[in-house]
Amino acid sequence: MSVYNAEVCGFCRKPVALSEPAIEALNRTYHDGCFQCRSCHVPLAGKQYYNKAGIPLCEDCYQASLELCWACGEAITDHVIRALERAYHLSCFTCTTCKQQIGEQAFAQGEVGEVYCLQDYYRKYAPMCNACKQLIIPKEDGTDSYNVECLGRSYHENCYRCEVCVIQLSPEPNEHGCYPLDGRMLCKSCHLSLASGQL
Ligand SMILES: [Zn+2]
Ligand SMILES: [Zn+2]
Ligand SMILES: [Zn+2]
Ligand SMILES: [Zn+2]
Ligand SMILES: [Zn+2]
Ligand SMILES: [Zn+2]
Repeated sequence: MSVYNAEVCGFCRKPVALSEPAIEALNRTYHDGCFQCRSCHVPLAGKQYYNKAGIPLCEDCYQASLELCWACGEAITDHVIRALERAYHLSCFTCTTCKQQIGEQAFAQGEVGEVYCLQDYYRKYAPMCNACKQLIIPKEDGTDSYNVECLGRSYHENCYRCEVCVIQLSPEPNEHGCYPLDGRMLCKSCHLSLASGQL
């Protein structure tokens, strides 16, 4: 039998004569002795082996090659979610509050590294507007997200208004900014009027 009909060994690249004992694995043919763990070189003929990107590995080396899930500590054998420089099982990368899988969606990190879906993150961490009592959440188009802080309270940019004449106040410390008086948010002219007893 001609050697040219023979397959090439997937490991040593030499022909595998049809008369030789050979192993078919991972879409390749190997000499009996060449089918070994690519990491520790233990012979794998007749043993359980694992396919790691086309490379045969013994069970121990395969387990050792797996990343561990940051949440449950178990090896990840299927799809790896990478986030926060950690690896997670798809089923373990979940929102701390609602337990929903986050997958590839946007998420945010809490104070101690816990993970939230954006909705729950904002519910927990977003400041509440002192005027309209709604959370101050960045909109996807970036509008009306500006959080103005005044007198230790937070306001939507659009809710940051004089309590008397309701004119919108500037977040900048200028002529059109807030001139508080006795804990009230006022524009400059209402401040002056109140301070002089005209209102
Ligand atoms: Zn070989
Ligand atoms: Zn091995
Ligand atoms: Zn896990
Ligand atoms: Zn959630
Ligand atoms: Zn508001
Ligand atoms: Zn005013």
